[in-house]
Amino acid sequence: MFFDTHNHSQFSFDGGATTVEKSVKAAVDKGFGGICFTDHCDYYVPEMKAQFEPIVCEVFDVGAQQAEIDRVSAMVADGAFGKAAAKKFKVLKGIEVGLDEHSRELNRNLLSAQHFDQIIASVHYLEDTDPYFGPYYKGKNWKEAYGRYLETLLREMKRLEDFDIMGHFDYIVRYAPYPKESILYRDFPGLIDEILKYLIENGKGLEINTKTYRAYGLRTPQLDRDILIRYMELGGEIICLGSDSHKAEQVGAKFDYFAQYIKMFGFRRLGHFEGRKLKMVTI
Ligand SMILES: [Zn+2]
Repeated sequence: MFFDTHNHSQFSFDGGATTVEKSVKAAVDKGFGGICFTDHCDYYVPEMKAQFEPIVCEVFDVGAQQAEIDRVSAMVADGAFGKAAAKKFKVLKGIEVGLDEHSRELNRNLLSAQHFDQIIASVHYLEDTDPYFGPYYKGKNWKEAYGRYLETLLREMKRLEDFDIMGHFDYIVRYAPYPKESILYRDFPGLIDEILKYLIENGKGLEINTKTYRAYGLRTPQLDRDILIRYMELGGEIICLGSDSHKAEQVGAKFDYFAQYIKMFGFRRLGHFEGRKLKMVTI
């Protein structure tokens, strides 16, 4: 039974036409045990983004999102999505916090003022750029571009501390211009070890963000098996599957594939968080 730990709803600035209700229905239809809505919270958006698209507020309305989750949870409990779902399906309250040196205090304040089931920490912006667009890569080779992303992620996670899951550690490969499509363990063994050890020692989850492993134009990033093997060697257990859905039809994308994939390396359970407490479900 799967829980999709990473989903966006109408409350994310880029949520588009999706809604909590539609994505819950999609997850119920797939036979999942639950879904967590982790809308975007990026307090700092680099100015250069305005060259490419108008800057909008990227901090969601936590109160409105949680009220809507309560409303849809009540529908689930009343049987609106079927009897089986009424008994077991969980709609969880989450957030995807954008790590950034400018946002440290605002992030900490928000997280201590609100209650969430699960907090994902991610890097979307670094060095005053949005890597979705070109300028971040200018003057950098792939090793510098990927390495600096991993260093930023590690540094800012350690600063924040108050989170449950590291989001899309290899997000930077999605939009990069290099022939090198993936972040491989052998290219950054020391840095990746440090990241994995930090997660393991602090009880945080390692997210497999299935959105990263699809085609972006001619490039299709891969999840490096050596990272999973190393994670297990170091004693890691908490793998979380997140689709990063921005549309209902993306909920749970490729979960069957990645569940089988991690089984090859000996993982038998997947993690998610309820009320900030880790739950492990056998797959
Ligand atoms: Zn993200």
